[in-house]
Amino acid sequence: MVHSGKKLRRKKKDNDDRATISQVFDTYTRLIVARLINNRVISGLFGCISTGKEANVYHSTDGKHKPLSADVEAIKMPKNKENIASFSSSSSKAPIDSSTVSEYAVKVYKTSIMQFRDRERYVEGEQRFEKGYKKHNSKKMVQLWCEKEARNLMRLYKLPPSLSINTPRVIAKKEHVLVMEFIGKDGIAAPKLKDAAPFLPHTRLVKLYWELVRAMRTLYVHGRLVHGDLSEYNILYYKKKPFIIDVSQSVEKDHPMSDVFLRMDIHNVTSFFMKYGVCVMKRKRLFDFITA
Ligand code: ADP
Ligand code: MN
Repeated sequence: MVHSGKKLRRKKKDNDDRATISQVFDTYTRLIVARLINNRVISGLFGCISTGKEANVYHSTDGKHKPLSADVEAIKMPKNKENIASFSSSSSKAPIDSSTVSEYAVKVYKTSIMQFRDRERYVEGEQRFEKGYKKHNSKKMVQLWCEKEARNLMRLYKLPPSLSINTPRVIAKKEHVLVMEFIGKDGIAAPKLKDAAPFLPHTRLVKLYWELVRAMRTLYVHGRLVHGDLSEYNILYYKKKPFIIDVSQSVEKDHPMSDVFLRMDIHNVTSFFMKYGVCVMKRKRLFDFITA
Protein backbone atom coordinates (compact mmCIF):
# COMPACT_ATOMS: atom_id res chain seq x y z
CA MET A 1 0.00 0.00 0.00
CA VAL A 2 1.27 3.45 -0.88
CA HIS A 3 0.73 6.27 1.61
CA SER A 4 0.72 9.86 0.48
CA GLY A 5 3.38 12.02 2.13
CA LYS A 6 0.73 13.93 4.04
CA LYS A 7 -0.86 10.79 5.36
CA LEU A 8 2.48 9.45 6.51
CA ARG A 9 3.31 12.67 8.27
CA ARG A 10 -0.01 12.64 10.05
CA LYS A 11 0.46 9.02 11.00
CA LYS A 12 3.89 9.81 12.42
CA LYS A 13 2.52 12.76 14.34
CA ASP A 14 -0.30 10.64 15.77
CA ASN A 15 2.21 8.07 16.90
CA ASP A 16 4.39 10.73 18.50
CA ASP A 17 1.41 12.14 20.36
CA ARG A 18 0.39 8.75 21.53
CA ALA A 19 3.92 7.96 22.67
CA THR A 20 4.14 10.96 24.98
CA ILE A 21 0.56 11.01 26.20
CA SER A 22 0.44 7.29 26.82
CA GLN A 23 3.28 7.64 29.28
CA VAL A 24 0.67 8.75 31.74
CA PHE A 25 -2.55 9.89 30.19
CA ASP A 26 -3.90 7.06 28.17
CA THR A 27 -7.67 6.94 27.79
CA TYR A 28 -8.01 4.67 30.77
CA THR A 29 -6.09 7.06 33.02
CA ARG A 30 -8.13 10.00 31.83
CA LEU A 31 -11.27 8.06 32.68
CA ILE A 32 -10.04 7.45 36.21
CA VAL A 33 -9.15 11.11 36.66
CA ALA A 34 -12.54 12.12 35.27
CA ARG A 35 -14.26 9.84 37.77
CA LEU A 36 -12.31 11.35 40.64
CA ILE A 37 -13.48 14.75 39.46
CA ASN A 38 -17.09 13.69 38.93
CA ASN A 39 -17.17 12.12 42.36
CA ARG A 40 -15.83 15.40 43.68
CA VAL A 41 -12.77 13.87 45.20
CA ILE A 42 -10.52 16.27 43.34
CA SER A 43 -11.27 19.43 41.42
CA GLY A 44 -8.97 18.77 38.48
CA LEU A 45 -5.30 18.34 37.74
CA PHE A 46 -3.37 21.55 38.00
CA GLY A 47 0.36 22.21 37.93
CA CYS A 48 2.65 19.28 37.33
CA ILE A 49 4.84 18.95 40.41
CA SER A 50 7.07 16.20 39.17
CA THR A 51 7.61 13.96 36.18
CA GLY A 52 9.43 10.84 37.26
CA LYS A 53 10.38 7.52 35.75
CA GLU A 54 7.51 5.71 37.35
CA ALA A 55 4.92 8.36 38.07
CA ASN A 56 3.95 11.96 37.56
CA VAL A 57 2.68 14.08 40.41
CA TYR A 58 0.13 16.87 39.98
CA HIS A 59 -1.28 19.49 42.24
CA SER A 60 -5.01 19.46 42.95
CA THR A 61 -7.60 20.61 45.42
CA ASP A 62 -10.58 19.19 47.24
CA GLY A 63 -13.31 18.54 44.65
CA LYS A 64 -16.18 19.61 46.87
CA HIS A 65 -15.29 23.23 46.66
CA LYS A 66 -15.14 23.85 42.94
CA PRO A 67 -17.64 24.06 40.08
CA LEU A 68 -17.64 21.00 37.90
CA SER A 69 -17.52 22.59 34.46
CA ALA A 70 -14.25 24.36 35.08
CA ASP A 71 -12.76 21.20 36.50
CA VAL A 72 -13.52 19.03 33.54
CA GLU A 73 -11.75 21.57 31.38
CA ALA A 74 -8.58 20.83 33.28
CA ILE A 75 -8.26 17.26 32.09
CA LYS A 76 -8.56 17.94 28.38
CA MET A 77 -6.08 15.83 26.53
CA PRO A 78 -2.71 17.54 26.33
CA LYS A 79 -1.38 17.61 22.79
CA ASN A 80 2.33 17.31 23.46
CA LYS A 81 4.97 17.00 26.12
CA GLU A 82 5.09 20.72 26.87
CA ASN A 83 1.37 20.75 27.45
CA ILE A 84 1.58 17.82 29.77
CA ALA A 85 4.12 19.67 31.85
CA SER A 86 2.11 22.88 32.02
CA PHE A 87 -1.16 20.99 31.89
CA SER A 88 -3.52 23.30 33.54
CA SER A 89 -1.67 26.52 33.73
CA SER A 90 -3.32 27.28 30.39
CA SER A 91 -6.74 25.71 30.87
CA SER A 92 -7.49 26.41 34.47
CA LYS A 93 -5.50 27.83 37.29
CA ALA A 94 -6.92 26.72 40.59
CA PRO A 95 -8.09 29.75 42.50
CA ILE A 96 -6.65 28.52 45.75
CA ASP A 97 -7.83 29.89 48.99
CA SER A 98 -5.81 27.72 51.29
CA SER A 99 -7.88 28.70 54.31
CA THR A 100 -10.90 26.74 53.08
CA VAL A 101 -9.68 24.34 50.40
CA SER A 102 -7.49 21.33 51.07
CA GLU A 103 -4.66 20.89 48.65
CA TYR A 104 -3.87 17.47 47.24
CA ALA A 105 -1.06 15.80 45.40
CA VAL A 106 -2.19 13.34 42.74
CA LYS A 107 0.35 10.69 41.86
CA VAL A 108 -0.39 9.06 38.54
CA TYR A 109 1.64 5.92 38.00
CA LYS A 110 2.85 5.30 34.49
CA THR A 111 1.29 2.30 32.90
CA SER A 112 4.21 1.47 30.62
CA ILE A 113 5.98 -1.66 31.75
CA MET A 114 9.66 -0.90 31.20
CA GLN A 115 10.47 0.99 34.37
CA PHE A 116 9.07 -1.66 36.63
CA ARG A 117 11.43 -4.46 35.85
CA ASP A 118 13.94 -3.67 38.56
CA ARG A 119 11.19 -3.51 41.12
CA GLU A 120 10.41 -7.18 41.19
CA ARG A 121 12.81 -7.86 43.99
CA TYR A 122 10.79 -5.62 46.26
CA VAL A 123 7.60 -7.56 45.71
CA GLU A 124 9.04 -11.05 45.54
CA GLY A 125 9.13 -12.50 49.00
CA GLU A 126 6.45 -10.22 50.27
CA GLN A 127 3.35 -12.17 51.22
CA ARG A 128 1.02 -9.19 51.11
CA PHE A 129 1.56 -8.69 47.42
CA GLU A 130 3.15 -11.73 45.90
CA LYS A 131 -0.15 -13.30 44.93
CA GLY A 132 -1.51 -10.37 42.96
CA TYR A 133 1.75 -9.61 41.24
CA LYS A 134 1.78 -10.66 37.60
CA LYS A 135 5.01 -9.88 35.84
CA HIS A 136 3.44 -9.83 32.42
CA ASN A 137 0.45 -7.66 33.12
CA SER A 138 1.71 -4.11 33.33
CA LYS A 139 -1.67 -2.66 34.21
CA LYS A 140 -1.99 -4.97 37.19
CA MET A 141 1.59 -4.26 38.12
CA VAL A 142 1.26 -0.50 38.33
CA GLN A 143 -2.00 -0.85 40.23
CA LEU A 144 -0.16 -2.99 42.71
CA TRP A 145 2.56 -0.39 43.17
CA CYS A 146 -0.06 2.25 43.73
CA GLU A 147 -1.90 -0.01 46.15
CA LYS A 148 1.33 -0.67 48.00
CA GLU A 149 2.07 3.01 48.32
CA ALA A 150 -1.45 3.77 49.56
CA ARG A 151 -1.39 0.95 52.11
CA ASN A 152 2.04 1.84 53.41
CA LEU A 153 1.11 5.51 53.74
CA MET A 154 -2.09 4.62 55.57
CA ARG A 155 -0.25 2.34 57.91
CA LEU A 156 2.18 5.10 58.83
CA TYR A 157 -0.54 7.66 59.12
CA LYS A 158 -2.44 5.47 61.57
CA LEU A 159 0.41 5.32 64.08
CA PRO A 160 -0.51 6.97 67.38
CA PRO A 161 0.54 10.63 67.73
CA SER A 162 3.37 9.77 70.12
CA LEU A 163 4.93 7.63 67.38
CA SER A 164 3.96 9.78 64.47
CA ILE A 165 5.96 9.95 61.28
CA ASN A 166 5.28 12.88 58.98
CA THR A 167 3.82 11.47 55.79
CA PRO A 168 1.03 12.62 53.46
CA ARG A 169 -2.44 11.37 54.39
CA VAL A 170 -4.14 9.23 51.75
CA ILE A 171 -7.33 10.80 50.38
CA ALA A 172 -8.23 8.27 47.71
CA LYS A 173 -6.79 5.53 45.56
CA LYS A 174 -8.28 4.47 42.28
CA GLU A 175 -6.50 1.93 40.10
CA HIS A 176 -3.08 3.50 39.49
CA VAL A 177 -3.96 6.99 40.68
CA LEU A 178 -3.21 8.02 44.25
CA VAL A 179 -4.68 11.16 45.79
CA MET A 180 -2.88 12.31 48.91
CA GLU A 181 -2.44 15.31 51.09
CA PHE A 182 -0.26 17.97 49.51
CA ILE A 183 2.93 18.74 51.40
CA GLY A 184 3.28 22.42 50.67
CA LYS A 185 1.08 25.46 50.36
CA ASP A 186 -0.74 27.44 47.66
CA GLY A 187 0.37 25.05 44.96
CA ILE A 188 4.03 25.29 45.89
CA ALA A 189 5.33 21.89 46.93
CA ALA A 190 7.73 21.66 49.83
CA PRO A 191 11.33 21.30 48.67
CA LYS A 192 13.15 18.01 48.77
CA LEU A 193 15.68 17.78 51.58
CA LYS A 194 18.38 17.80 48.93
CA ASP A 195 17.30 21.25 47.76
CA ALA A 196 16.49 22.69 51.17
CA ALA A 197 19.63 21.59 53.00
CA PRO A 198 22.07 24.11 51.45
CA PHE A 199 19.96 26.91 52.94
CA LEU A 200 19.55 25.48 56.42
CA PRO A 201 21.65 26.38 59.45
CA HIS A 202 23.79 23.64 60.90
CA THR A 203 21.70 23.31 64.03
CA ARG A 204 18.60 22.65 61.93
CA LEU A 205 20.41 19.96 59.97
CA VAL A 206 21.49 18.28 63.18
CA LYS A 207 17.86 18.29 64.37
CA LEU A 208 16.68 16.88 61.06
CA TYR A 209 19.22 14.09 61.21
CA TRP A 210 18.04 12.97 64.63
CA GLU A 211 14.41 13.28 63.61
CA LEU A 212 15.14 10.99 60.69
CA VAL A 213 16.96 8.52 62.91
CA ARG A 214 13.86 8.42 65.09
CA ALA A 215 11.58 8.16 62.03
CA MET A 216 13.54 5.23 60.61
CA ARG A 217 13.29 3.42 63.92
CA THR A 218 9.56 4.14 64.29
CA LEU A 219 9.00 3.04 60.71
CA TYR A 220 10.75 -0.24 61.49
CA VAL A 221 9.57 -1.00 64.99
CA HIS A 222 6.00 0.30 64.89
CA GLY A 223 5.27 0.54 61.17
CA ARG A 224 7.06 -2.77 60.60
CA LEU A 225 8.40 -1.34 57.35
CA VAL A 226 11.70 -0.54 55.72
CA HIS A 227 11.41 2.39 53.32
CA GLY A 228 13.75 0.94 50.72
CA ASP A 229 14.42 4.16 48.84
CA LEU A 230 15.01 6.64 51.62
CA SER A 231 17.27 9.51 50.65
CA GLU A 232 17.33 13.30 50.40
CA TYR A 233 15.17 12.87 47.28
CA ASN A 234 12.28 11.23 49.10
CA ILE A 235 12.23 13.48 52.13
CA LEU A 236 10.44 16.80 51.87
CA TYR A 237 11.30 19.67 54.16
CA TYR A 238 8.11 21.32 55.37
CA LYS A 239 7.34 23.37 58.46
CA LYS A 240 10.87 22.66 59.66
CA LYS A 241 10.16 18.93 59.67
CA PRO A 242 11.16 16.00 57.47
CA PHE A 243 8.24 14.43 55.59
CA ILE A 244 8.79 10.96 54.24
CA ILE A 245 7.27 10.20 50.84
CA ASP A 246 7.48 7.64 48.02
CA VAL A 247 6.83 4.46 49.98
CA SER A 248 5.61 2.29 47.11
CA GLN A 249 8.69 0.08 47.31
CA SER A 250 8.75 -0.14 51.09
CA VAL A 251 8.81 -3.69 52.40
CA GLU A 252 7.73 -5.50 55.53
CA LYS A 253 10.54 -5.89 58.02
CA ASP A 254 10.33 -9.66 57.64
CA HIS A 255 10.89 -9.42 53.89
CA PRO A 256 14.00 -11.48 53.02
CA MET A 257 15.76 -8.40 51.64
CA SER A 258 14.67 -5.92 54.30
CA ASP A 259 18.09 -5.79 55.98
CA VAL A 260 19.74 -5.02 52.67
CA PHE A 261 17.25 -2.22 51.99
CA LEU A 262 17.60 -0.85 55.50
CA ARG A 263 21.39 -0.70 55.11
CA MET A 264 20.90 1.20 51.86
CA ASP A 265 18.56 3.67 53.56
CA ILE A 266 21.00 4.14 56.41
CA HIS A 267 23.84 4.62 53.99
CA ASN A 268 21.97 7.31 52.03
CA VAL A 269 20.87 9.28 55.05
CA THR A 270 24.23 8.99 56.77
CA SER A 271 26.31 10.10 53.82
CA PHE A 272 23.96 12.97 53.08
CA PHE A 273 24.28 14.44 56.56
CA MET A 274 28.01 13.75 56.71
CA LYS A 275 28.38 15.90 53.62
CA TYR A 276 26.95 18.75 55.69
CA GLY A 277 29.31 18.16 58.57
CA VAL A 278 26.68 16.67 60.88
CA CYS A 279 28.16 14.37 63.50
CA VAL A 280 26.41 11.10 62.64
CA MET A 281 26.16 7.65 64.20
CA LYS A 282 28.26 4.83 62.80
CA ARG A 283 26.18 2.99 60.23
CA LYS A 284 26.44 -0.30 62.03
CA ARG A 285 25.36 1.28 65.31
CA LEU A 286 22.43 2.98 63.64
CA PHE A 287 21.39 -0.34 62.12
CA ASP A 288 21.49 -1.97 65.55
CA PHE A 289 19.61 0.94 67.09
CA ILE A 290 16.84 0.72 64.51
CA THR A 291 16.47 -3.05 64.62
CA ALA A 292 17.09 -3.66 68.32
P1 ADP B 1 8.86 9.25 42.12
O1 ADP B 1 10.17 9.54 42.81
O2 ADP B 1 8.59 7.80 41.99
O3 ADP B 1 8.71 9.99 40.85
P2 ADP B 1 7.62 10.57 44.42
O4 ADP B 1 6.53 10.00 45.25
O5 ADP B 1 8.97 10.64 45.05
O6 ADP B 1 7.66 9.78 43.06
O7 ADP B 1 7.17 12.03 43.97
C1 ADP B 1 7.95 12.79 43.10
C2 ADP B 1 8.03 14.23 43.58
O8 ADP B 1 6.72 14.79 43.65
C3 ADP B 1 8.59 14.37 44.97
O9 ADP B 1 9.99 14.47 44.98
C4 ADP B 1 7.96 15.67 45.44
O10 ADP B 1 8.68 16.76 44.95
C5 ADP B 1 6.60 15.62 44.77
N1 ADP B 1 5.59 15.07 45.67
C6 ADP B 1 5.23 13.77 45.82
N2 ADP B 1 4.26 13.62 46.73
C7 ADP B 1 3.99 14.87 47.20
C8 ADP B 1 3.09 15.40 48.18
N3 ADP B 1 2.25 14.61 48.86
N4 ADP B 1 3.08 16.73 48.39
C9 ADP B 1 3.92 17.53 47.71
N5 ADP B 1 4.80 17.10 46.78
C10 ADP B 1 4.84 15.79 46.52
MN1 MN C 1 10.80 9.76 44.73
